[in-house]
Amino acid sequence: MIPHDTIDVIMDTVRIEEVVGDFVSLKRRGSNLIGLCPFHSERTPSFSVSPVKGIYKCFGCGKAGNAVNFVMEHEKFTYPEALRYLAKKYHIEVQEEAESAEEIAAKSEREGLFAVSEFAQKFFSGQLLNTDEGKSVGLSYFRGRGFSDDTIIKFQLGYSPDEWESFTKQALANGYSREMLDKSGLAIVKDDKMYDRFRSRVIFPIHSQAGRVIGFGGRILSSDKSKAKYVNSPESEIYNKSKVLYGIAFAKNAIAANDMCYLVEGYTDVISMHQAGIQNVVASSGTSLTVDQIKLIKRYTPNITILYDGDPAGIKASFRGIDMILEQGMNVKVVLFPDGEDPDSFARTRRSSEVTGFIQKSAKDFIRFKIELLLDETGNDPLKKVSIIKEFIDSIALIPDRLTRMAYVKESAERMKMDESVILNELNKVLRNKFRKQADLTHEEFEATIPEPEVIPAQQPQTLDLTSTEYQERELVRLLLAYGPKQIKMFSLAEGQAEPVEVVTTVAEFIVNDLRNDGLELTFEVYAKVLSEYAKLVDAEAVPKPEVMIQHPDPVISRCAVDLLATPYELHDWGKRRIHIPLEEDEEVLERAVTSSLLAFKARRIEQLLADTAKEIREPAPDTDIMLLMRKYKELKILNAQINKQLGRIITR
Ligand code: ATP
Ligand code: MN
Repeated sequence: MIPHDTIDVIMDTVRIEEVVGDFVSLKRRGSNLIGLCPFHSERTPSFSVSPVKGIYKCFGCGKAGNAVNFVMEHEKFTYPEALRYLAKKYHIEVQEEAESAEEIAAKSEREGLFAVSEFAQKFFSGQLLNTDEGKSVGLSYFRGRGFSDDTIIKFQLGYSPDEWESFTKQALANGYSREMLDKSGLAIVKDDKMYDRFRSRVIFPIHSQAGRVIGFGGRILSSDKSKAKYVNSPESEIYNKSKVLYGIAFAKNAIAANDMCYLVEGYTDVISMHQAGIQNVVASSGTSLTVDQIKLIKRYTPNITILYDGDPAGIKASFRGIDMILEQGMNVKVVLFPDGEDPDSFARTRRSSEVTGFIQKSAKDFIRFKIELLLDETGNDPLKKVSIIKEFIDSIALIPDRLTRMAYVKESAERMKMDESVILNELNKVLRNKFRKQADLTHEEFEATIPEPEVIPAQQPQTLDLTSTEYQERELVRLLLAYGPKQIKMFSLAEGQAEPVEVVTTVAEFIVNDLRNDGLELTFEVYAKVLSEYAKLVDAEAVPKPEVMIQHPDPVISRCAVDLLATPYELHDWGKRRIHIPLEEDEEVLERAVTSSLLAFKARRIEQLLADTAKEIREPAPDTDIMLLMRKYKELKILNAQINKQLGRIITR
């Protein structure tokens, strides 16, 4: 835990241009600095840093934030990691809040395991590169596989000699405890004897996301069929197989930059692809894919392409894993390699442009691929065809996004030469069942809460709908962030008064209290969070200027401030064009903006209530009082008309 005071000191000290400047070469342009965006590839700079506001923003890809956001995004740090990084850069001492005895013990075990793993990696590399046995057996094997010396160094490959305890002895002599050797699995302990787990194997170290060695894979060199081809470290306090992906440390930046992750089977596939110049590759290594591994990839990209060697049995076996990826809302493509080839052998014998060309040409959307594979099996048999519908509909039903689901319904209907409505009906059945199970309802309970059936939308939704709730909530929050402490004059009708009186207030105070009086809350999590922060600030009479909100210690709030305050017209500050926007700085314009935003938000709320009530009247639950509902409807109608009238007055004025 980093104390709040320290976070404040860090926020006050950091200079955005220095933090970004460590990674991006920046040139001054007016009051800002510009450079090539590190988050997407571009040739002309659209990445702008504003020292005054303490923020960066890319006008190409839209990424924006303060100094903490930048290191989080660029280095894939968590929030505390980013703060520690900045503290170190500016020599700010971080006194972390006290840890418990168990936390300290667990931490020292982890540190011990990291230390012995690093020692082992150095030992194995030394054996490979500097000993006769290592060179003649291990190094010649790797070279024979086509690995270059650069590759061998980069992946820290190694060799464990053909002796029972060469590593164990070295480690003990260097002060590593028997307990650590046992827990890391580097030594196998039997009775009072210890011996090397990886003896007589070439070594592939496994790295954590941050690039620390956490485990090993060892491949046998003899063709002795009685021994396992690969031996791996057992799980430990630092090595959790289901949470690690082989190669992630080397691949993470490339995955984010290419917005794509290739998934392969194992060590050699990852390494050969890297050597061919394709760096966004990871492997799940020996085990089948887990949800944690998928989430790890999702931190960098929503797009996964699975590279298969062309064995149909293996592919069908992997369908379950792919369904999990779909369930995470990710886009899955698959590539089949020609018979007898895997990514390792394919990449080894071709130039990188050929490999990427092949992948791009052969990548197929997973569901399309699944339908085709299933159709190949059924041929023209209509009965069999029906039986496979369910198989791919189960996959479609896992996709969280409705529009994506609908696109697949259309697509699969075409492929199967069937009517869309047939597939849609089946899909709705699966979805309804899933919903019922999730909500843990009986059939009767369920019938009362049937979700709306899916329909194919007539047209794609517009990008920015000015009447949408999202837009209206954002507008209110934007006014809070941009003009919170600014004074305005408003008319207010207090209880027991006949005439509205003019009151002098601030934008924040007015918005917060107006919503509070009507018992209204914002529905979008981020906006609700900002609003409740302002409610606190208003109560404490401490509403700050926008710059302070940009540096807010809560990353959700600071990011929201950046997004809403760095409006696109700033782009033209350093371009030639100037765009004139109505000056909200003008008090009267601002007062009107505040009033109309509040009214528009309320109008929208009432419309929703009207629609809900109308539906309730049309489809009443068994013991509803219809008369009561009708009265409510009528009152809402009147309110709606009043608000729209006021709104009309303001807008047309
Ligand atoms: P070969 O030279 O015979 O092709 P290989 O070392 O390439 O052998 P494969 O049998 O082709 O190994 O397996 C492909 C990938 O699967 C390897 O890169 C390896 O990382 C991974 N793999 C295979 N078995 C295991 C295992 N038991 N544990 C971890 N990874 C494994
Ligand atoms: Mn192989």
